Amino acid sequence: MKISHRIAASRPLATTAMHGRVEAFRNEGMGIIDFSIAISHFSPPSPVLDAVTRAVQDERTMPYTGVAGALDVRRSLCAKLGRENGIPAEANEIIVTNGAKQALYEALYAMTDPGDTVLIFRPHWPAYVTTCQLLGLRPLLVDLPANITPETLAACPRADLVIINNPHNPTGKVFDRDELGHLADWVEAIGAQVIVDESYEHLSFGPVHTSFASQCDWRAIGVVTLFSASQSYAMMGWRLGFALAPPEIASAMQTLQGPITAATSHLAQVATVAAFDCGVQQHMIDEYRDRRDQVLHHVRELPWMRMHCPDSGPYLWGDVRALTHDTEAFAEALLAEEGVAIMPGDALGMPGFIRIGYICDDVYTLMEGVRRLVAFGDRIAAD
Ligand code: PMP
Repeated sequence: MKISHRIAASRPLATTAMHGRVEAFRNEGMGIIDFSIAISHFSPPSPVLDAVTRAVQDERTMPYTGVAGALDVRRSLCAKLGRENGIPAEANEIIVTNGAKQALYEALYAMTDPGDTVLIFRPHWPAYVTTCQLLGLRPLLVDLPANITPETLAACPRADLVIINNPHNPTGKVFDRDELGHLADWVEAIGAQVIVDESYEHLSFGPVHTSFASQCDWRAIGVVTLFSASQSYAMMGWRLGFALAPPEIASAMQTLQGPITAATSHLAQVATVAAFDCGVQQHMIDEYRDRRDQVLHHVRELPWMRMHCPDSGPYLWGDVRALTHDTEAFAEALLAEEGVAIMPGDALGMPGFIRIGYICDDVYTLMEGVRRLVAFGDRIAAD
């Protein structure tokens, strides 16, 4: 049986692989507490559910739309970009996708050739590296500086393309305007194109999120920005995202998307517009902040784990190097012995760290999972 070299040379995406294992355990009747990804326990905003219900009840034919999405949908997303992100954009610069993930693949495909280098700050969302592997690209992993300055950037290797994730998964860092300005100057100086993933734009606990494209000449540099409804509106499984790209890149992305999915489903496009019209879901952010603080309070005095307080996002990022550097084995044993799934830092480019998605299930389940994690770590520390 022949399997493509490109696939054989790539590892399955660590997050979806772990999630698949959790589902398999659950299908066998085992109760697993899943911190490995961030699936919100909230429902999508009611205007979205209303819009979708109305569209179904009106028995709209739901035609194939143009590959990039229906014109009124793209216009509405342009209005969101002007309103929330300070980016004036045209409809031919928008492409609606099945989540930010599809947009990432298409943008990387459209902007590179095999062998090109892609600079990725670590820790990183695992899909950046896996997608590079699938496309035969060379990821260059660089530690994410606490502060982005001209000096920290001058120490980075040159690359054909740079991926920026703002707000950042998993550290929760929200880049300030100075940092975005330094990044813009630097990518211009080295002639790199950029993909900016702003999937967590609505999940800040305080610092104002600023879009990179609002701070630079994004059309001239070649900047693609990715947006997602998954985290902003608790709509992970709906697969709603879109990209903003200079017209030439948007058109190249359509060339790729056409034969794969053509347009996303029309119903999903109705939901995309309704979702991005909803703005920040403050009640959700408030509860996430509360949960974040409860977990941090519980683990603050552990001698074997240091966890910093994230400014945004659904993850906590813990340094467990005082206990182990083999976090893959740690995660395996935690799942087998305590029924708790986490992401080992290995998959995010940093063994010795763990990532906890703290927004799943109810608070009781969250704290029970944390209690089991702490008991497990304490046992290892006592050995
Ligand atoms: N970007 C980042 C940084 C993410 O963490 C995720 C999902 N966890 C995505 C994109 C995926 O977004 P979507 O569900 O829209 O594909």
